[in-house]
Amino acid sequence: MQNKKSGIICNNCKSTNTFTLGQLPNVSEFAGKKIQPAIIGGLLVQCSSCNIKFRHSELEQADLNDLYDGGISEWTVAENRNDWKLLLKFIQTRYSNQKKEISILDIGCNRGEVLAKIDSKHKRYGLEINSTAAAYARKKTDLTIWTDYDKIPAKLKFDLIYSTDVIEHLSSPNAFLEPLLELLNDDGVLVVSTGDADNALSKIFGAKWWYYYFPEHVAFISKRWAQLFANSNNLDIINSSTFYYHDLPVFKRFKLLVMSFIFSLIDSSLHKRILGFINKNDTSLRFQIGKGVSKDHVFIVFQKK
Ligand SMILES: [Zn+2]
Repeated sequence: MQNKKSGIICNNCKSTNTFTLGQLPNVSEFAGKKIQPAIIGGLLVQCSSCNIKFRHSELEQADLNDLYDGGISEWTVAENRNDWKLLLKFIQTRYSNQKKEISILDIGCNRGEVLAKIDSKHKRYGLEINSTAAAYARKKTDLTIWTDYDKIPAKLKFDLIYSTDVIEHLSSPNAFLEPLLELLNDDGVLVVSTGDADNALSKIFGAKWWYYYFPEHVAFISKRWAQLFANSNNLDIINSSTFYYHDLPVFKRFKLLVMSFIFSLIDSSLHKRILGFINKNDTSLRFQIGKGVSKDHVFIVFQKK
């Protein structure tokens, strides 16, 4: 299966210069909600033309939108996330001495957790297609939260647009970001943060890597993709860094690394039985291979040239 030329059409750039990296697991949860029957995992595919990795499955973007509809995720939103810290630090550094009013747009703002953390001296807006989450965000922040891209007033431009943990949910990263560039002021910046498809452990564990497990994760970018995206859209990359999603003690990261290698070597049914044995109340448990071990997220800032 490894590096086999697939001929599958890339969701992002339509190239057929693609390679299969492995079989993804069938999963009976979606965006934090249990579902039946399980979603067929499909294949993990790499595109050599635009450098994304993507999930090749039966699900189209419309199916995904249906699956997202219907209530709010049961996920508890983890605070203390390093993507948020990086973003807030970037905003503070870039705009601390600005005299003019700065306008900021959060794409996929969920319940407004990040918007609420940004200095209220800035004009803040959100976009959230889940209407339940959008209503929650409005209540929490008292800000304008649109539920549809088309509802953003045409004349409104932004100095900073950011999107944390959203791009991996959309089948074409370029088709997602390119319209957002139209909404930027001349010196505006676009910030994207997500899992890093070029992470070393993702290469070692392939389709077993934890970030590829979730059926709602369908496209995976990296710094190499970002460079091509910048070149083709007349952008500079003014910041790109990989980071740990959460802070953990070194010994804990080492323990997770050792467990990752062990669980990567046993098949998934045995994997589930072992974890089910350890915790009899929850047989859906699984060990997330590679999670928490390395700097497996990437933070990228594009600026218009
Ligand atoms: Zn491609």
